[in-house]
Amino acid sequence: MNDVQFDYTRQDASGASCTAHAWAKVPAPLTTAQRDALKQRAAELLRQQQAVLVAHYYVDGDLQDLALATGGCVSDSLEMARFGRDHAAGTLVVAGVRFMGESAKILSPAKRVLMPDLDATCSLDLGCPADEFNRFCDAHPDRTVVVYANTSAAVKARADWMVTSSCALSIVQHLHDQGRKILWAPDKHLGSYVQRQTGADMLMWNGACIVHDEFKGLELELLRREHPQAKVLVHPESPREVVDQADVVGSTAQMLRAVIEMDAPEFIVATDNGMFHRMRQSAPGKRLIEAPTAGNSATCKSCAHCPWMAMNGLQGVVDCLEKGLGEIQVDEPIRSQALGCIDRMLDFVAARPATTGRPAQGLVPHIGAA
Ligand code: SF4
Repeated sequence: MNDVQFDYTRQDASGASCTAHAWAKVPAPLTTAQRDALKQRAAELLRQQQAVLVAHYYVDGDLQDLALATGGCVSDSLEMARFGRDHAAGTLVVAGVRFMGESAKILSPAKRVLMPDLDATCSLDLGCPADEFNRFCDAHPDRTVVVYANTSAAVKARADWMVTSSCALSIVQHLHDQGRKILWAPDKHLGSYVQRQTGADMLMWNGACIVHDEFKGLELELLRREHPQAKVLVHPESPREVVDQADVVGSTAQMLRAVIEMDAPEFIVATDNGMFHRMRQSAPGKRLIEAPTAGNSATCKSCAHCPWMAMNGLQGVVDCLEKGLGEIQVDEPIRSQALGCIDRMLDFVAARPATTGRPAQGLVPHIGAA
């Protein structure tokens, strides 16, 4: 693998301040009565406006339940994109982070795409500004540009391929088999995992997810000793020393499937803890343990929860539908330029359904795209 040749050093500073801003906007806890009233009002509005709620596994459990109860979906970013594109609703309410709303709009320009809070972003997106990314690409014109879904529309507009964690391995393997050299952005841990699995020549951007970057290898080792029967599930945005201890490396949907299908009483899970809501509902008899984000020696303990995902709440869904707030716009020609790399990925996956490990495929432990 090539060494990291581009170091985006502003990410820490901007990420920290934006994180504080995000936590300040996380909705306050609701009483049962408030929650029930908001859910009922949101369901009414969705029905009246022929809208559908498309939620990520990391958002608040009430939003996930509302999405499922009203004919929407709860899924990973790949399935969110496909669901929004294929659903007949004229309005998509995307509960997640901004790049997910942008992807929905890029794929469905005629639909109205709303989000509970347009400030909900992602450290990977923040850490990969389009102007600097374009300069990076300009410096390496011989490389095929592959970007992770967690990027802005403007960055996708420059890419040849978009990938999600469900299909990154299969797509890079495909490109490597064709003899292509790859420029990869922005997640260095996912990129490094894909590079190790495929042997592809990958030049990496230096970005990271502030949630997964916090999982700790040494503390995970100690936790595994306390739970020898537990299977370890790791999202590939995590550092290598964590990924190396996994029984299954995969996207959120693949981790959920592993909890349901694997014959084990306990699972140690290294991903955002919003994921536990669907896992508990789908595999009620199994014990789920959060992977450690810091040990006793750490000066602070991170919480394995994304502040931007946490900004999504029931009140935000009601407000965006009642007041028309939070509408996503992606201007031309960026939209049609960005569409190319997303369509390429969706066509690739549609032609090879096994690549994302959908239910027809047997589970292959320790393979990200299983
Ligand atoms: S969990 Fe990480 S990758 Fe996902 S939106 Fe939050 S910062 Fe981005």
